[in-house]
Amino acid sequence: MNTQLHIAIVGAGPGGLTLARILHLHGIAATVFEQESHPLERPQGGTLDLHEGSGLQALRQAGLIEEFQAIARYEDQGSRLLDKAGNLLFEDQDAASGNRPEVDRTELRAMLLQALPAACLRWGCAMREVQARDDGRWDLVFEHGSEGPFDLVVGADGAWSRIQPLLSPYRPQYSGLTFIECGIDDVDRCHPALSQLVGRGKMGVEADGKEIIAQRNGNAHIRAYAIFRVPAGWAARRFDLAAPASMRAELIKEFDGFAPEILDLFRASNDNFAIRLICALPVGHCWQNLRGLTLLGDAAHVMSPFGGDGVNNAMFDAAELARLLIERADWAEAVAEYEALMFARVAESAEGAAEGAATQLSHVGQALTLEMYRSHAGGQGQK
Ligand SMILES: Cc1cc2nc3c(=O)[nH]c(=O)nc-3n(C[C@H](O)[C@H](O)[C@H](O)COP(=O)(O)OP(=O)(O)OC[C@H]3O[C@@H](n4cnc5c(N)ncnc54)[C@H](O)[C@@H]3O)c2cc1C
Repeated sequence: MNTQLHIAIVGAGPGGLTLARILHLHGIAATVFEQESHPLERPQGGTLDLHEGSGLQALRQAGLIEEFQAIARYEDQGSRLLDKAGNLLFEDQDAASGNRPEVDRTELRAMLLQALPAACLRWGCAMREVQARDDGRWDLVFEHGSEGPFDLVVGADGAWSRIQPLLSPYRPQYSGLTFIECGIDDVDRCHPALSQLVGRGKMGVEADGKEIIAQRNGNAHIRAYAIFRVPAGWAARRFDLAAPASMRAELIKEFDGFAPEILDLFRASNDNFAIRLICALPVGHCWQNLRGLTLLGDAAHVMSPFGGDGVNNAMFDAAELARLLIERADWAEAVAEYEALMFARVAESAEGAAEGAATQLSHVGQALTLEMYRSHAGGQGQK
């Protein structure tokens, strides 16, 4: 490929940074534009599990597997399912034996950033618009003015991508599921009972059309989600994020009838509550190739988190796009080939994630969830 090509990547998430890193390894420069003003502007979110054949494969192509092993948490791959009285329905007891290591998103991003020259990152650059030029190239418009021209612009800017509407008429649709997120700090020392309740990995409890999922993150932190099937505006009307004490009390009310030791998750939460509406692009989302613009990761195929494939797809998209750009003589053909392969590849996980969202919190919800926990168990499932 012509190494003089001007490439812009919009978004310094796991997808955009993986692409920039692999291109950099092969001597191809790209500029990453990120709206956040610096790497620590906001916590990057919870724990992610990386899969063989996608996320881990991408890290191999990025030459970062050793660095990854230093931050991976193999020991946190367990899962437990309880009923609302706190009885154990299922436990994957061998939490360390799986091949889907967990990693905190903040650590993953820091590792990818460290592997890139600082000069290729432009922080505090919220892209507003992409403009077509007469010569077939593209300019990016920011508050501070325009940058360009670029031969290739890659939208790695997440679910609400500003580039995606130039390629397809679809926007992510609300799945009907709303997550209220909360977090418990220093759990092993301050809340040993909760530490045991959640165990080394993920704990779920589903009853009465509601669900709680709690996940162990690094640094003895637990991130928990209260999950409801409700209209999109319900949570914003029901909860006041600015009043943490009332958030705790109202969540406890919503889960009335659940065992007190489960509700302690809300009692012990810090003040950082968030509302997350789970949205997805249609299964099979695709577009007609347009020279010089493409998408990867959530911008191309945001899906519900129930398949656990989101970040893995994003990183593998990046690895595949980089591979084809490196291997093919004609970069525009490489992009078209990447898109065709990606559309076919992600369809299955998009379908699984859509089914996961659709069947969540049904009247037989707990039985379906139990089936899912059994099928996902990395170690020896019990019960
Ligand atoms: C509650 C929840 C739980 C999840 N759990 C899992 C899980 O367990 N496993 C899993 O695999 N996936 C999970 N996901 C999905 C996963 O987070 C995403 O699939 C993944 O982060 C996608 O990576 P990305 O690089 O495509 O986009 P993102 O991670 O969204 O990164 C996009 C980047 O672009 C930047 N950006 C956005 N707009 C602009 C702009 N206009 N200009 C410049 N920069 C911009 C953003 O600031 C961000 O840094 C979960 C998602 C949710 C909501």
